[in-house]
Amino acid sequence: MSILGEFAEALTAGRIEVVDLTAPLSDNTPIIQLPPPFAQTATFQLEEISRFDERGPAWYWNNLRTGEHTGTHFDAPAHWITGRDGEDVATVPARKLVGPVAVLDLSEQVAADPDFLLEVDHVREWEKTHGPLPAGGWLLYRTGWDTRSESQAEFLNADENGPHTPGVSPACARWLAEEAPVIGFGVETVGTDAGAAHSFDPPFPCHAALLGSGKYGLTQLQNLALLPPTGAVLVAGPLPIVGGSGSPARVLALVER
Ligand code: MN
Repeated sequence: MSILGEFAEALTAGRIEVVDLTAPLSDNTPIIQLPPPFAQTATFQLEEISRFDERGPAWYWNNLRTGEHTGTHFDAPAHWITGRDGEDVATVPARKLVGPVAVLDLSEQVAADPDFLLEVDHVREWEKTHGPLPAGGWLLYRTGWDTRSESQAEFLNADENGPHTPGVSPACARWLAEEAPVIGFGVETVGTDAGAAHSFDPPFPCHAALLGSGKYGLTQLQNLALLPPTGAVLVAGPLPIVGGSGSPARVLALVER
């Protein structure tokens, strides 16, 4: 049988499970808040066109308004100044939207310290057990932050000094961009960088290094706890917004049971 034939049979028989890594999109979906004087992104909003009424007796539909970086979303290289001449979200090749994933679980460390930063040594330690990161694939960073995604306040976790959410050290961001074989980095938080990353050197090192290297980001993922450390395949579906810097995305993982 063909590879896809076997795959389809396994899918039908339930030997391959489809895990949804996407947060539901609504006007409650948390969004990033930048300090003044920076401009803010929009929350997700639906505007009803008609709902089985005089505006459209047999049909229900909405217009929608959203930031490109709202909810579970894809960061294209053109999002950051370091990647401004790189791909926008519509020019990311479809081939890059499907790939193997490695899942690193640092949720215990993050439970003890919400400002926890991923270091290269954490990845090296993981690789001792699970082997090298997948070439052309994605590194997904599990922090347990998805349990907070129903609440803007808990998700941003801000105090008078700014947000406290886990992220990546500047050295690890450079390593992910320049040395790691993965093409993308996925997180459970509102952005790929730590809440305190505005104060890092350079600021927002994960955005600067990854997008500047033509790599990609995925944010506000859920259900990473349902994935094995290796062996799952990710499918990301950002909208091909022409010239767009990113897009809300449906992100799925295929997992062999
Ligand atoms: Mn983003």
